[in-house]
Amino acid sequence: MTTTETIPASARDVLRVTQRMLIGDEWVSAASGENIAVVDPATELEITSLASGGAQEVDRAVRVARAAFDSGVWRKMPPAGQSRLMNRLADAIDADVDSLAYLETVDSGKPYALAYQEVLQAAEFVRYYAGWPTKIYGTVNPVGSEVLSYTKREPIGVVAGIAPWNCPLINAAYKVAPAIACGNSVILKPAEQTSLTSLRFGQLCLDVGIPAGVVQVLTGFGETVGDALVVHPGVDKIAFTGSTETGRLIARRGADRLKKISLELGGKSAAIICNDADLAAAVDVLFSAYGVWYNSGQICVQTARLLVQREIHDEFAAAVVERSRTLRQGSPFAADTDLGPLVSGDQLDRVLGYLEVAEAEGTEVMLGGRRAPGAGYFVEPTVLCGMRPEMRIANEEIFGPVVGLMPFDTIDEAVSLANGTEFGLAASVWTGNIKLGHSLVDRLQAGVVWINTFADTDSSVAFGGTKQSGYGRECGEESIHTYTQTKSVYCRL
Ligand code: ADP
Repeated sequence: MTTTETIPASARDVLRVTQRMLIGDEWVSAASGENIAVVDPATELEITSLASGGAQEVDRAVRVARAAFDSGVWRKMPPAGQSRLMNRLADAIDADVDSLAYLETVDSGKPYALAYQEVLQAAEFVRYYAGWPTKIYGTVNPVGSEVLSYTKREPIGVVAGIAPWNCPLINAAYKVAPAIACGNSVILKPAEQTSLTSLRFGQLCLDVGIPAGVVQVLTGFGETVGDALVVHPGVDKIAFTGSTETGRLIARRGADRLKKISLELGGKSAAIICNDADLAAAVDVLFSAYGVWYNSGQICVQTARLLVQREIHDEFAAAVVERSRTLRQGSPFAADTDLGPLVSGDQLDRVLGYLEVAEAEGTEVMLGGRRAPGAGYFVEPTVLCGMRPEMRIANEEIFGPVVGLMPFDTIDEAVSLANGTEFGLAASVWTGNIKLGHSLVDRLQAGVVWINTFADTDSSVAFGGTKQSGYGRECGEESIHTYTQTKSVYCRL
């Protein structure tokens, strides 16, 4: 791996011209003629622009997606052929890692090393689902000997995958790979802040021979192109990842046509740090560049609330501050950078707004608490003490490098604090008593629980939330169920 400011040639091409959308096998400009500026969050400089799509492009893309689906060009391809093309796609992502990592870094602000790793992760994810077309079984049903009854899993049709800005290429892969593994046509709508790698992903799909119209990419704002996808009668399913507020809106807007909807939404995850935990390990894992500070805190599973047993609270707080001080914030292209900027000026304002709320609510700033000086949307990694459960900062998703500590006395109290928000995405438990760790699994309202570890995910393991963190699961076999529907057959013999 190289960390470089030398722009790979293919990425340079992307930065030279306004980025168009992929409809069928054509790259098209917005009918409106409008474009969206793409800003490098580390420098605040405009680096390129994107077509701002709308209802007209949605209508066209949906027709193309439907035609591809109905023609059977992909859906009826022998599963081994689908598998081969998806494996080629994974290989193409690997081969393009320099460009993709460069574009992801300059578009999102995440450190190059993280971007590089995420590109490889996206390729692995596609590779995992490349194994599925040959393994989607039906059943033969025990209805007696006079009748043969069987079920098969069919693709749903046209899927809209609406993705967030935090891990753009990974989210593109999450939306596209399982959907096409099941034979659907997908229209990917990346976030307007970070569309560059999704567009390149669309090109790679064409390059490896996935038929035109099976994967299309529309760019633009959520309220225009996103909403047009949600309400279009030709879209059968919506897979959305983003904020809870937008998720609720999409669920409402899609309800008129009873669209199948899966929602991966916000979180306010807690870590429960017990007296008997290996404190050094907990601090090291949770407060590394791959823990709470990953992507400057802009991930849905971020541990925003540290619930610490009272006897060890002060020792833990001191260790957290010491560890976090060692992380370097700076240019995403510098080899030693751990934290980059936030993704956009809007996100910067949002996080700074929450820092004001934290101050007004009376928390103590142990570390950070400010915008970093100079250009770029940088906020210092911030550790707050004295967070109480009724505070806004203990309940609302900040999506930035801000975490708060809360003491607890008993395990029951810790569970009640952990479950005390509207969200239910993830939680972690840190204890030397593995039996206690497993006993908490059943009591924590979360779709993912980590014991003495944090942020492990795997393509094969279901991922998603409970409560206001959404419904439906991504990854693993559950995603195959999300993108297929069962057809039951009876045949009298
Ligand atoms: P954020 O507020 O952090 O930008 P959102 O949840 O609003 O996060 O955005 C996630 C994705 O949802 C983005 O691709 C965005 O364009 C899209 N989006 C936003 N609003 C809507 C909407 N009303 N309908 C469909 N998609 C939307």
